[in-house]
Amino acid sequence: MDKQTLPLTASVQAWTGGSHFRNLTVNLPALAPGEALATVDLATVCGSDIHTISGRRTGPHPSILGHEAVGRIVSLGVGGAQDFHGRELQPGDRVIWSVTVACGRCDRCRAGVTAKCVDLLKTGHEPLDGDWGLSGGYASHIHLRQGITVVSVPDKVSDAAAAPVACATATVMAVMEAAGPLTGKRVLISGAGMLGIVACAVATHRGASAVHVRDINPDRLALAWEFGATDAAAPNTDRPGLAVDIAVDLSGAAKAVESAFASLDIAGRMVLAGSVSPGPAVSLDPERMVRSLLSVTGVHNYEPKHLQEAMDFVHETRESYQWDALVEEPRALAELPLLMQPPTGRSLRKSVIPTLGTTRRTS
Ligand SMILES: [Zn+2]
Ligand SMILES: [Zn+2]
Repeated sequence: MDKQTLPLTASVQAWTGGSHFRNLTVNLPALAPGEALATVDLATVCGSDIHTISGRRTGPHPSILGHEAVGRIVSLGVGGAQDFHGRELQPGDRVIWSVTVACGRCDRCRAGVTAKCVDLLKTGHEPLDGDWGLSGGYASHIHLRQGITVVSVPDKVSDAAAAPVACATATVMAVMEAAGPLTGKRVLISGAGMLGIVACAVATHRGASAVHVRDINPDRLALAWEFGATDAAAPNTDRPGLAVDIAVDLSGAAKAVESAFASLDIAGRMVLAGSVSPGPAVSLDPERMVRSLLSVTGVHNYEPKHLQEAMDFVHETRESYQWDALVEEPRALAELPLLMQPPTGRSLRKSVIPTLGTTRRTS
């Protein structure tokens, strides 16, 4: 796109606190070297945004929420910008971008834990009047600032399949790395929301010998079967003696965490990633942990490589799993306030097409 056709403003749905949003027109930023401007072609509504507007999670406002999205490069700062593989981005390229933007210089970044950078910025969580106002996906355009990870989207991956990769799928890649090798392992997944369904597919794809999924929602259990579960049931139907090598909690429910811990066999490993808002403490028997050689680890956010791995996974498994069927028919940006509630039935994500005033699904 040449300079004459570039828009000068973006249309955004700014979150103004509580459950309130306001449609605003904001100026596009001047791009620094290494930065890019992209359209947002489809944004999906992650559960954490719903937590934010319900007050379970704090965030600055006014701000533009939305951190699961896919779009196209519109313009680039001096010197251009690259995707994860170092390929020079061009106007028109379809891309997704990371949730976190790290400084790359602090002790944590140097130790490879950029997800916990001391100067961390987060996509869809920055104040509108700050120096990264256009940080969220619920807008016609997003400012891809220096330090954000950009991953190219293969042609065969639809917008609906690509958008949730930026949070849900990439986080699951970090979770499953923490879980260790999965070949021949018995795996328990607690919580069959978007992350649980992705985890189910990853465990199956990586050769787990059994994939047990627990959730209270029958629609989600039905999805779990379709995404590779060998056993999907409500938590209270656990047969006595369920023993697994790996337990992954994506529910954040204290009872589910206790039950998952109880199911760990010798040398079992539990990865917690669902507990992202305050909840009751859980008691873990230290003697059992010692004698059974158990380990428990937590995962929050992900590293740049996980975003690329997640896109590769969705691309590689596009024939096996109906990724885009997990996303509801998109709506116009103006309807966003109505979409900020948990999805029901077989839908795991609501979605908006910010650049359109009408409702339709893109490829
Ligand atoms: Zn998210
Ligand atoms: Zn840092």
